[in-house]
Amino acid sequence: MIAAGPDLDRLRELARQAGRALTGATAEEVVRWAADTFGGRFCVTSSFADGVLVHLVSRVAPGTDVVFLDTGLHFPETLRVRDQVAGSLPVRVRSIRPRLTVGQQDGKHGPRLFARQPDECCALRKVEPLERALADYDAWAAGLRRDESPTRASTPAVHFDASRGKVKVNPLASWTQADVDGYIARWEVPVNALLSQGYRSVGCWPCTRRVIAGEDPRAGRWPLFDKTECGLHQ
Ligand code: SF4
Repeated sequence: MIAAGPDLDRLRELARQAGRALTGATAEEVVRWAADTFGGRFCVTSSFADGVLVHLVSRVAPGTDVVFLDTGLHFPETLRVRDQVAGSLPVRVRSIRPRLTVGQQDGKHGPRLFARQPDECCALRKVEPLERALADYDAWAAGLRRDESPTRASTPAVHFDASRGKVKVNPLASWTQADVDGYIARWEVPVNALLSQGYRSVGCWPCTRRVIAGEDPRAGRWPLFDKTECGLHQ
């Protein structure tokens, strides 16, 4: 837990006020507020299932940093979207790696940790790298949407991420899949090829499967476990 202090009180109050003021705001307005308020201390994270949020941020606030958690276990299709975005949009993509390579992790914790202790694997390959990256920022944006799963149904547009001492913004919180599809078509945004192959949510390859009709988009994540989130979003 982050220790309390004047800076944290300021961030908490900023998030509280913005959470009220930006109720019903557009995604662009939420991003504009974050970029104006935090400048270079604001970043956007992306798992590159698509480039929608990064594209939107690049229009509103060109030059914003994009944090990608490069776990070493991504599908090649995901890395392709990252590289397309990095090469075509006015943003700076930062690929953040875990402290251990996959081979080093296998040696220290045993092979296929994801198949035995996925929470521990996510802690090593996603959560710690995110928290290391966020040391450079006061606010971060993610692409969570309320319609993705019951666990995300109350996602706010702006809130205080108390465990990390950061302001968290979710500009797409109120968007539907139709909104995402419409944005992709309008702006010709790069999209992960897996989304047209039965995948609805894309993470690391060992922990992602296709979904079937009627399942929620995140049903294909950690299908063998009672686990629905990687620990990044609290
Ligand atoms: S999603 Fe799976 S492979 Fe990726 S970090 Fe989490 S447990 Fe490990």
